[in-house]
Amino acid sequence: MSLPDSLSKLFAYIDNNKVNFIETLIEAVAIKSVSAWPQTRDECQRMINWAQQKMEALNISCKQVDIGSQDLPDGTKIKLPNILTGTLGNDPAKKTVLVYGHLDVQPAAIEDGWDTDPFVLTPKDGKLYGRGSSDDKGPILCWLNAIEAYQRQNITIPVNIKFVFEGMEESGSIGLHKCLMSMRRWFDDVEFACITDSRWLGNYPCVTYGLRGLAHFNLDIECAKMDLHSGVFGGTVYEAMTDLFNLMGQLVDVNGKILVPGVYDDVEPVKPDEDKIYEKIVFDVDEYQKSIGTPGRLLYENKKDLLQHRWRFPALSIHGISGAHCKPGQKTVIPGKVTGKFSIRLVPNQDPNKIEKLVVDYLSKKFKESGSPNLMKCQMSHGVRAFTENPINHNFQAAVRATEHVYGVEPNLIREGSTIPVTLTFQEVTGKNVLLLPIGCGDDGAHSQNEKINERNFIEGSKVLGAYLYELSKVL
Ligand SMILES: [Zn+2]
Repeated sequence: MSLPDSLSKLFAYIDNNKVNFIETLIEAVAIKSVSAWPQTRDECQRMINWAQQKMEALNISCKQVDIGSQDLPDGTKIKLPNILTGTLGNDPAKKTVLVYGHLDVQPAAIEDGWDTDPFVLTPKDGKLYGRGSSDDKGPILCWLNAIEAYQRQNITIPVNIKFVFEGMEESGSIGLHKCLMSMRRWFDDVEFACITDSRWLGNYPCVTYGLRGLAHFNLDIECAKMDLHSGVFGGTVYEAMTDLFNLMGQLVDVNGKILVPGVYDDVEPVKPDEDKIYEKIVFDVDEYQKSIGTPGRLLYENKKDLLQHRWRFPALSIHGISGAHCKPGQKTVIPGKVTGKFSIRLVPNQDPNKIEKLVVDYLSKKFKESGSPNLMKCQMSHGVRAFTENPINHNFQAAVRATEHVYGVEPNLIREGSTIPVTLTFQEVTGKNVLLLPIGCGDDGAHSQNEKINERNFIEGSKVLGAYLYELSKVL
């Protein structure tokens, strides 16, 4: 496929402005917009303001929508960062595409095991290390880079664009769904939606048509109204941590099977021709294992089983315990109250509320059987259904062709195992096709230590988005 003239110009501009684009990413990463930490909530709002300025410099007309405040577990209220919307172009002769990204990030601290300061973008060996570089500040900047390239090269942007950027995605997108539902009319002219908040499978370009959902649980166990000295009180109480370990140890077995009865009941059976989709996907199991540094075996050793268990079967993960001692060194304490945190990634047809009931009933039964004298409470703190979309659509075709223009290969058509609730909201408010177009690589370490985006993905990704806008405008 030969490259259209306008795209050649666009791509040349992006290549020539690499240094400036990276400078802007440095600024973005330096803003500590961790939405999970109340102490950095102002930084989330600062990040929204920063993005607005950058967008207005590109003539995008912006508006911030106040979505109120959040109740913290300690009873205090804290303001939510505003949602940032933007509009570029309103030519009725053009199609309108809706774009989503998030400007908040996961927590990060050097003591978590980062090699460099997570909030100082650090280039090394063609990679740009920093929290948010891949999830999701880098990809948001790729949109702005592409638009800048159109404008500076005097090429008319062939579609209208609407933007929704939020600052609470990493904390469950609090307030987003309600806000978008209340401004439903704003989406009336939207023809396509595109979300750049996922990653490739490994190091091969992808377009994504499915995500798993999530049911997150808190399991509280209380054995005393305060923490106790183990020398003084040890041996006299059935301890909350022992109780919690006993219960959480009965959630999943050594083969990854979830032990909660009924959890698999609604999972869609594998269709006869479904396995074939997986044969086509470029994916190396050994490389995958190496990239995550698993010392022993993976739960599944062939490509198809491994990918299906990442994407189309549910999985249970235990995340942590709050209330327990976790710092280095000894602390001979009996925690009085602990909260175990775990979640199940849900797949199509699974209903979070039904899953909640199954989990709570199961743990209550196990707790009762144990004869524990403690207090136990289990609750789903967050539930989201899985997402799937029809990839036989102009929106997906435009993304495929854009990827081919830039990377010279047909992208893998994949699902992902993670959860992005806005995908469902976008389907609901637009009634139109929702595409996930990932920018970064699978090994970018989103949510992990040493998150990075490859310089190549950041620059070529800007081109892909530029080419996607071009391809969208082609006759249907
Ligand atoms: Zn993200």
